[in-house]
Amino acid sequence: MIQSLQGIGMTSLRTRERMINRLMDQGISSNKILDVMRNTPRHIFMDEALASRAYEDTALPIGYNQTISQPYIVAKMTELLLASSDRLTKVLEIGTGCGYQTAILAQLVDHVYSVERIAPLQKKAKDRLWGLKLKNVSFLHSDGGWGWPDHAPYDGILVAAAPPEVPVMLLQQMAVGGVMIIPVGNGGSQQLQRITRTENSYEVEKLEPVVFVPFLSGRK
Ligand code: SAH
Repeated sequence: MIQSLQGIGMTSLRTRERMINRLMDQGISSNKILDVMRNTPRHIFMDEALASRAYEDTALPIGYNQTISQPYIVAKMTELLLASSDRLTKVLEIGTGCGYQTAILAQLVDHVYSVERIAPLQKKAKDRLWGLKLKNVSFLHSDGGWGWPDHAPYDGILVAAAPPEVPVMLLQQMAVGGVMIIPVGNGGSQQLQRITRTENSYEVEKLEPVVFVPFLSGRK
């Protein structure tokens, strides 16, 4: 097991660099984010059988009908989130999944609060982050539609599953000046949105078309 992971680790230096070059071609320009993605082993976030495909630009299954987001979308959402401020102190992530996006965020902001509705997925993600010594992350097993009111307001919220409409509780948990990056829509047609909370209102920017798994209610 260890040997096979080491084997992947060796080749992944080259394949990881290819992933970074691809991200740059796709328009990701933040060196900070590219460095973090270069240095974070994406293959440990998936089953061994798929680990050799970890650096391809594609979403891959992580069990329970869920997928790890493709590298481009992780980079893009992170870039949109960080563009709002030099320093984000508290970021709420909805949809821990395998924990890869969580790991990237944890290296770029002060603290990540990550909510997931499927307990075994979150447990594995927790173990992986611990293994990478990323300790500025708190986890909650819950329906992310409720957000995580105990730690609100957040200066950033990143949602990794698509609801038909932006959940009101999440809007309420944004700090003034804070941003939320969220895919909105149903299976057929979703759109990435950046929402900024102003003194008395919310600004909505509609960005590119995207494909995410659906935002589901309840816990499992
Ligand atoms: N960034 C993650 C994305 C995983 S897919 C990764 O790269 O692995 C989206 C995740 O959102 C899934 O794990 C799914 O279970 C979770 N999810 C969907 N609806 C949710 C909800 N209402 N609350 C919390 N998590 C939710």
